Amino acid sequence: MIESPLLKQLSGYVGGQWLDAADGATFDVYNPATGERIAAVASMAAAEVEQAVAAGCRALKLMQPYPVETRRRWLEEIRDALQADRDELGRILCLEHGKPLAEAKAEVDYAAGFFDYYSLHIGALEPHSLAEKPRNCSWTVHYRPVGVVGLITPWNFPIGMIAKKLSAALAAGCPSVIKPASETPLTMIALFTLMAERTSLPDGMVNLVMGKASVIGQVLCDSAEVPMLSFTGSTEVGRQLIHDTADQVKKLALELGGNAPFIVFADADLDAAADNLIANKFRGGGQTCVCANRIFVHEDVLASFGAKLAERVGRMTVGDGLSEGVDIGPLINRAGFDKVRRHVQDALDQGGTLVAGPDPGSLGGDLYYPPTVVSGVTPEMACYREETFGPLVPMASFRTEEEVVAAGNDTEFGLACYVFTADAERAQRVAAGLRFGHVGWNTGTGPTPEAPFGGMKASGIGREGGVEGLFEFVEPQTVPRGG
Ligand code: ADP
Repeated sequence: MIESPLLKQLSGYVGGQWLDAADGATFDVYNPATGERIAAVASMAAAEVEQAVAAGCRALKLMQPYPVETRRRWLEEIRDALQADRDELGRILCLEHGKPLAEAKAEVDYAAGFFDYYSLHIGALEPHSLAEKPRNCSWTVHYRPVGVVGLITPWNFPIGMIAKKLSAALAAGCPSVIKPASETPLTMIALFTLMAERTSLPDGMVNLVMGKASVIGQVLCDSAEVPMLSFTGSTEVGRQLIHDTADQVKKLALELGGNAPFIVFADADLDAAADNLIANKFRGGGQTCVCANRIFVHEDVLASFGAKLAERVGRMTVGDGLSEGVDIGPLINRAGFDKVRRHVQDALDQGGTLVAGPDPGSLGGDLYYPPTVVSGVTPEMACYREETFGPLVPMASFRTEEEVVAAGNDTEFGLACYVFTADAERAQRVAAGLRFGHVGWNTGTGPTPEAPFGGMKASGIGREGGVEGLFEFVEPQTVPRGG
């Protein structure tokens, strides 16, 4: 079982107190690298989630709002605590998620970056007066906290995803009820330990609930005291939340699935494109919503690009994220592993060619899937239509700019995409034609605290990061003054 000074208890946190389920229920957490059970964590019922909402209501201050300086201090305190304990947080994250330790620690730095960024830009939420005088009045625009918010996060970035939401919520003065994914609750508990011990957050400002998603989700959707949910996860659950909150016309911020095209034109620097693809595709073992999912390579360079990929993939090490020199850890669970294997097998059955990687039939004892490259991918294949969420690089060829823009957009999703070309004008044209919230030109880099990030189409609603991310958590209120 996991031991850590940041995991002295494995409970929820409500109104400034650690809280177990009234009936003592727990759920198990596993290390995907070994299959070992590493913790049994409180599994809370609806009554405890309602307590968390009530605690959030008590912490919400509307008529005497928390001053900007107070909110800035919370953000700085959390940033400092994350930076001070990055090694231990990274170790916990690595043990429950499986990603390489260096990557896990880098995720903690990334998370600290959001608290830092909003501590510097919280001034964007100060009230301001309109320069013109509509209707002969002086108008002031205030940015009021939305209220108690529900923050629901996935397992693929156990600290990064909550950092984006919580930093903006606190900057806006919104108390939160936070639900982590059941695969990775330990990093969240560790974050709550830090917030409880090292920050001046008032009781009820941050609340942690864990357990059955359907039970917790229902309380958050039904409660009139929770006017907003911010959710990152699958499009399927995002759609359900839209349905379940429709009666209350709840505010939603949704970061959902992706199906990222990665386009390589013949004039691209192929080595740089291959290096960027490797870094992008295998981050988190391929389990991120911005990982390239369909690789379109101009037919003139398909063979040479494929050879460069195969050579790089052959040098990668798969193993336990805690071991030195590991590039790719295990997949999160059996369902994740089986999906990758199904996608590879389906692509091969439908005429794809294995450029690198093992025969999928030879695998299966553990959760390690070696990096795999398949060419000759077509729109009929599962790996083209669905997000694989694993270390498969599926390649297709194209001839013209128009054709590849249409192919890139041939998905219900619109989160991230990447374009590699030496021609700046073409890059601008292609970027404008691609219906994705993030377009990397000659880079495979994803979201950062400074830039608004989010999806078009079925990839979501709203943005995280940038000042746009702050404005998700406020209601602008106009107060005209006559005379
Ligand atoms: P993933 O495929 O990444 O696991 P999910 O959408 O299933 O994505 O889960 C993302 C987060 O949403 C997790 O914290 C999960 O427990 C939670 N979740 C799943 N179903 C619901 C639901 N009906 N209501 C609220 N949260 C949910």
